[in-house]
Amino acid sequence: MRRPIIAGNWKMYKTIADALELANGLKRELYAIKGVDIVIAPGFTLLDEISDVISGSNINLGAQNAHWEAEGAFTGEASVAQLKELDVKYIIIGHSERRQFFGETNEGVNKRIKAVLSGGLIPIMCVGENLSQREKGNTFSVVQDHLRGGLEGIEKEEAKDIIFAYEPVWAIGTGKTATPAEAQEVHGFIRKKLAEIYDNDTAQSMRIQYGGSVKPDNIEDLIKQEDIDGALVGGASLKVDSFSEIVKKSVG
Ligand code: PEP
Repeated sequence: MRRPIIAGNWKMYKTIADALELANGLKRELYAIKGVDIVIAPGFTLLDEISDVISGSNINLGAQNAHWEAEGAFTGEASVAQLKELDVKYIIIGHSERRQFFGETNEGVNKRIKAVLSGGLIPIMCVGENLSQREKGNTFSVVQDHLRGGLEGIEKEEAKDIIFAYEPVWAIGTGKTATPAEAQEVHGFIRKKLAEIYDNDTAQSMRIQYGGSVKPDNIEDLIKQEDIDGALVGGASLKVDSFSEIVKKSVG
């Protein structure tokens, strides 16, 4: 039985005051919730303060990216060690917005994932097709490339901790969600590929989140699907009510 994991990607939203209000609100709403891993991933400037707020609670800290080098002249980047110092536990890697707007490639994703794993943190590795790729019937080949490229050279022992997030780009921030059946079809495919890359037991133990306009009113149908083990939530993670409801509904 895979434990569900719900992560909120705050993207480039919130100033410190707003972020503190959100984190404190989530702590109040979610303190008694068990049976699900809860993650919030604020922007870099917010991590330090939010880390203090959620310390000792059932909410874990995530970051939205990390560089593969330990240190160096990499303006605008943050290293795994710098994030670890703030008690970050999960790091989102290869989000479609990084791929689309900042030229992130499978090779970069692979190097970042390796750095996160060797730093002892947990990567949330995003994969997913855009609208034109879906319309051309290339969904599975794109997802396969993201998986094979991102996992290149990562052995089973390390890979078993990676969280995967299937995020069809056409469903991110658009209000269009993949239907539970559409999402399940790709999640099933991802698990099959993971079994080919590693083995069936490893693939069965790996958690695969769905992301793309997840809201309180669609989470239950999504999480019921055999291969959907949680959600990566953007817009609806920015409000206490909607994110708390999604978390609560993911454990029934
Ligand atoms: C995301 O940013 O990963 C995401 C899924 O966003 P949204 O929930 O707003 O579609």
